[in-house]
Amino acid sequence: MTLQEIVSQSKNIVFFGGAGVSTESGIPDFRSKDGLYRLKYDVPPETILSADYFFSHTEEFYRFYKDKMLPLGAMPNAAHLRLAEWEKAGKLSAVVTQNIDGLHQKAGSRRVYELHGSVHRNRCLACGKKFSAEAIARSEGVPRCACGGLIKPNVVLYGEPLEDETVQGALAAISSCDTLIVAGTSLTVYPAAGFVEYFRGSRLVLINRDQTALDKKCDLVIHGSVGKAFAELT
Ligand code: NAD
Repeated sequence: MTLQEIVSQSKNIVFFGGAGVSTESGIPDFRSKDGLYRLKYDVPPETILSADYFFSHTEEFYRFYKDKMLPLGAMPNAAHLRLAEWEKAGKLSAVVTQNIDGLHQKAGSRRVYELHGSVHRNRCLACGKKFSAEAIARSEGVPRCACGGLIKPNVVLYGEPLEDETVQGALAAISSCDTLIVAGTSLTVYPAAGFVEYFRGSRLVLINRDQTALDKKCDLVIHGSVGKAFAELT
């Protein structure tokens, strides 16, 4: 079956995506050949993006974060836009994403489970005041609240747990859909990658440039670009 045929026959699609969904919007992923993990840093990005590092080396954390994780001008691509259309048409019940860039919402999607949080939500750790991603980008050095408190992005850093409510919503969506489309993820970041195991429906689709551990369990595997696969759908 083709992706087009599977989509036409599905009544309740859930999309599970990763950083590869946004590379065609100009945001680098972590593990591709152009990904952030291939760049040379004194400290590996996995360390910089950990909770321990955030609190112990806040200035260095923010230097990397503002430089690499805040692509505020990025626009949704064909995949984000098509998924939002499917939701409006009642064909898709949820997007579950590991991404923190907010591009699904920018494209018009409403039910988005952001497993790793979002750069668009930030708050003062002392008084709880909320800040936009733009305010973080504009700040000099370490962003601080008027009360003097440290501002932290609501992004799940390595060593931090996922938000319970988001996990419950994502698992309920995945375990009740008829078609799960997994795309643009290396499926190596846990616990998120394990969520696809909750799928109980009849059609499992994978779209990814590189092979993944899930390929052999799928009804359809497309080794190619996510944006192109969605742009080709009518
Ligand atoms: P990853 O970097 O581990 O893997 C990305 C996968 O997508 C790779 O297998 C790659 O081959 C594939 N890919 C890249 N571009 C593609 C394209 N255009 N079409 C098809 N496949 C493509 O990403 P991951 O599995 O999501 O895990 C990394 C973690 O990093 C996640 O937790 C995520 O939150 C975070 N992250 C998020 C962003 C973002 O918000 N846009 C960007 C970088 C990293």
